[in-house]
Amino acid sequence: MVNSIYESPIFNIADSQYQRACEWLNLPQDVIERTRLPKRSLVVQVPVRMDDGSVKSFEGYRVQHHLALGPTKGGVRFHPEVTIGETAALAMWMSWKCSLAGLPYGGAKGGVACNPLTMSEGEMERLTRRYTQELIPFIGPSMDIPAPDVGTSEKHMAWMLDTYSIAVGHCTPGVVTGKPVILGGSVGRKEATGRGVAFLVNRAMDLLKIQAEGATAVIQGFGNVGSHAALTLAASGVKIIAVTDHTGGLHNSDGMDVRALQAHVAEYGGVSGFKSGERLTREELFALECDVLIPAALEAQITGENAAKLRCKILAEAANGPTTAAGDDLLRESDIFLLPDILCNAGGVIVSYFEWVQNMQNFSWSEIEVNDRLYRILEKAFQEVLLFGKRNNLWMRDAALAIGINKVIQAKRARGLYP
Ligand code: NAD
Repeated sequence: MVNSIYESPIFNIADSQYQRACEWLNLPQDVIERTRLPKRSLVVQVPVRMDDGSVKSFEGYRVQHHLALGPTKGGVRFHPEVTIGETAALAMWMSWKCSLAGLPYGGAKGGVACNPLTMSEGEMERLTRRYTQELIPFIGPSMDIPAPDVGTSEKHMAWMLDTYSIAVGHCTPGVVTGKPVILGGSVGRKEATGRGVAFLVNRAMDLLKIQAEGATAVIQGFGNVGSHAALTLAASGVKIIAVTDHTGGLHNSDGMDVRALQAHVAEYGGVSGFKSGERLTREELFALECDVLIPAALEAQITGENAAKLRCKILAEAANGPTTAAGDDLLRESDIFLLPDILCNAGGVIVSYFEWVQNMQNFSWSEIEVNDRLYRILEKAFQEVLLFGKRNNLWMRDAALAIGINKVIQAKRARGLYP
C-alpha cells in the first residue's frame, strides 16, 4: 500500500511487484523510495462540445514515471475506468519494459476517463484534440511520446500529431508513435505488439517442446493486440479455440477462422454474434484446457479466485498487469510457463521506438527490416530473462522485473542526484 494519490488496486499490483523485486535486489530503502512513485503527473479537465450542443467535462491524465534514460514513452487509454492510480501503474510497467528491452526511454502513460463506445467520431476527435492541447507543455519528441492503448488507435494518433503540430507551428511526426503510415507511422507498428506476443509464445513452445501445428490457444480481448496475436499464431498452425471480449465469448474446439472473426469485429464492434462457436464466459475461458492462454484485455483478470483453475501450459501476458498479487502467489507454485507482461507485450514499444528513430532520421525502413530488428530485440530479452531466472532461481516475472528495475536504478546512480 502506498500513501499517495496513486493508491488504488491496480497501482498496488505494480507496487507489490516492484517491492518484491527491490527486496531481491537488496536495494537500500532510500533508493527504493526514489524510484517508486512517478516523477511527475498531470491531471487535466477536458471540456468537450457534444453533438447535442451540451458541454461535458472529462478528467484526463499523463504520468511520467522516470526521466533518467531519455524521453518518456507510453500509450493513451480511453476507457471509463481510467484513474490516476491505474495510469501511474501502467507508466511504471512501461519503465521496466523499456529498460528490459534496452530502449532509451522512461515509462509514461496517459488516459481519459470516458466511454468511447457511447461517443460519436466527432466527439472523440474533439476530446482527443483538447486532451492533446492540455498536454502540450509536457509532450514532444524529446520529452514524452504518446502511442495507442486501449480505446485509442492510429486515428487518435493522427489527431494528436495534427493538434501538436499546429500548436508548435511545424509538422512534428515524432511527437506520437502508432500513427498512420502516411503520416510517418512505421510499417509493422499496428501489428507489432501481437506479433511480438506470438513470437515469444513460439519461443516458449520450443522450450516446452510443444509443436505449433495443432497447438491450442485461448485469448481474452480481440482488439489490436489480441487479434494480431491470434492472426500470427494461426499463421504458424496454432488453433485459436476460444476468444472473449467486452461483448461476449466464443468457443470452437476445431479452431476459429481468425480473419473472418476480425472482419466480424470490424463490422459489429465485438466478437458476439460471430457465426461459428458456442458462447463462453470469462471464467469458462480461463478454465479451458489449452496450450496457451493469452489475456489481452485489461488488468487484474487472473486473481486468487481463478489462478488455480487455469489449465494452460503457457500464460502469455499480452495485457499489462493482467495478474494480481494473489494470482501470482498461486501461479508461482504451478507448472505454468509465464511470459510476463513487461517482456510479452514489449513488441509494441520496440516498434514504436523504431518509428520514432525513423521520424528523427526522416527515413523509413521496410517491414522486413522492422520485423527482423523486432525479433532480435525480443529474442535477446527473452534469453536474458531465462538465463537470469535460471542462474538466480527466480520466476520469470521476478527475473524480468529485477533486470528492468536494476537498469533504471543503475542509470539513476550513474547520473547522481541534483543538486
Ligand atoms: P484495444 O482497445 O484495441 O482492445 C481491447 C480489447 O479488450 C477489446 O477486444 C475489448 O473488447 C476487450 N475488453 C475490454 N473490456 C473487456 C472485458 N471486461 N472483458 C473482456 N474483454 C474486454 O486495446 P489493445 O491495444 O489491444 O490493448 C489490450 C491490452 O494490451 C491492454 O492491456 C494494453 O495496455 C496492452 N498493450 C497494448 C499495446 C498496443 O500496442 N496497443 C502494447 C502493449 C500492451
